[in-house]
Amino acid sequence: MRSAIVVGAGVAGLVAARDLAEAGASVLVLEGSDRAGGKLRGGSVAGVSVDVGAEAMLHRRPEGIALAADLGLPLVHPTSATSRVWTRDALRPLPRTVMGAPLDLDQLEESGILSSEGMARARHQFVSTVPEGSDESVGFLVGNRFGDEVVDRLVEPLLGGVYAGQARHISVRSAVPQLVDLLARNDFSLPVPAGEAPPVFAAVDGGMWRLPAALEADLAGRPGVEIRYDAPASAVRRTGSGFGVTTPAGEEIADLLVLATPAAPTARLVAELAPAAADDLVRIGYASVALATLAYRADDPAVVEALEIGASGFLVPPVDGRRVKASTFSFAKWDWVRAAGDGLLVLRTSLGRFGEEATLQVPDEELVRASLADLADATGLRAEPVDVVVQRWGGGLPQYWVGHADRVARIRAAVATVPGLAVCGASYDGVGIPATIASAHTAAASLLT
Ligand SMILES: Cc1cc2nc3c(=O)[nH]c(=O)nc-3n(C[C@H](O)[C@H](O)[C@H](O)COP(=O)(O)OP(=O)(O)OC[C@H]3O[C@@H](n4cnc5c(N)ncnc54)[C@H](O)[C@@H]3O)c2cc1C
Repeated sequence: MRSAIVVGAGVAGLVAARDLAEAGASVLVLEGSDRAGGKLRGGSVAGVSVDVGAEAMLHRRPEGIALAADLGLPLVHPTSATSRVWTRDALRPLPRTVMGAPLDLDQLEESGILSSEGMARARHQFVSTVPEGSDESVGFLVGNRFGDEVVDRLVEPLLGGVYAGQARHISVRSAVPQLVDLLARNDFSLPVPAGEAPPVFAAVDGGMWRLPAALEADLAGRPGVEIRYDAPASAVRRTGSGFGVTTPAGEEIADLLVLATPAAPTARLVAELAPAAADDLVRIGYASVALATLAYRADDPAVVEALEIGASGFLVPPVDGRRVKASTFSFAKWDWVRAAGDGLLVLRTSLGRFGEEATLQVPDEELVRASLADLADATGLRAEPVDVVVQRWGGGLPQYWVGHADRVARIRAAVATVPGLAVCGASYDGVGIPATIASAHTAAASLLT
């Protein structure tokens, strides 16, 4: 029986461990913290269990929904409530876009998101393409075509929601490949699909945190599998054809090794085995974010008037200089949250983009104060929340900067020179949960063939 060590018990590490166990390997999962799940985490606000990390996954990709089905977890979809953009002093409807690149300029004009000058520039579309084999930033391309105001007021808040990053640095090929096709077609007037559109997002009923919890339970039931907590891996060395991994309790030896950790710890762990990979890994930047989850009384008329507006929340363009970058009205977006709230409306604000780490280095109370001030300005909400929980995600989101795909190809090539070693997780082929799961399947498969 082959033995494997998986470092990191985020969703990627848990999935890789499951695949390896399924193939008959004995598996030791080393998790640095006291819990599994990584960025998928549950928390409790005023006694209501909700996600305090990732809250949804793309439904269009198969990997997340297939995994949930395999684990017997029921899926739900968001309600029909739609997001707003809080800009130019109003909550405005979000028009149809591909990550902020507008698909319907009349709808964009009606939304009032752009000034009249910005709108005139957007209508004056310039041809802008990405040459074969090259990469460009999303902001540069959309700015060339539609003008900077579209980047500042639409692309930034949408990309900020996924990457907490800056549009003028994020790679079009890695982050929004559909945009490359639209630019090549030189036509953004994509028709609205006829009939009922399939849902774009899904979540596990009761919270995405249930996904790693189910994986953990599944692994616990398998002979030859162990998940060890508070067991950070601090070094890796070659031992014959296998690996020695240093943990606080001593060295663990295995034939196969999967590193399912963020880029910085992965770089440290591969520094000796694959120095070229480490060189590229340390160049992947990370954005820190914080989420404040707030619960309000649903029977307070002031709360109802401000929050029951048919919106699933709002995005905030950085150009408007607010502290929060988005708010998700979880009670309106997810029926399960409304039901679980039982008399409470639960919502969350998110703060922090790449390069804004200093703004998060303040006490929790300050983040809550900033959230309440922005919520009041955006919605008129003046009521006090019944409870608030702040969850910080230091180094939470990898930045897919221009050239990211080439960087990942170089990392993979360097890792492939070390037989028995694989890497996976959010740093490589997509930060979303399905892409992360896919990278774990690929990592495990590469070791099993
Ligand atoms: C606030 C937030 C909201 C998000 N929302 C969504 C969303 O709604 N939908 C979506 O699809 N994606 C979302 N994402 C992204 C997605 O959640 C993550 O990209 C994904 O969960 C990452 O999984 P992972 O396994 O690669 O890494 P992680 O979840 O980061 O797990 C890595 C694990 O490795 C452990 N570790 C680190 N170093 C060591 C070491 N030396 N030894 C042992 N263990 C170590 C860590 O403790 C951690 O448990 C969100 C991310 C954040 C931060």
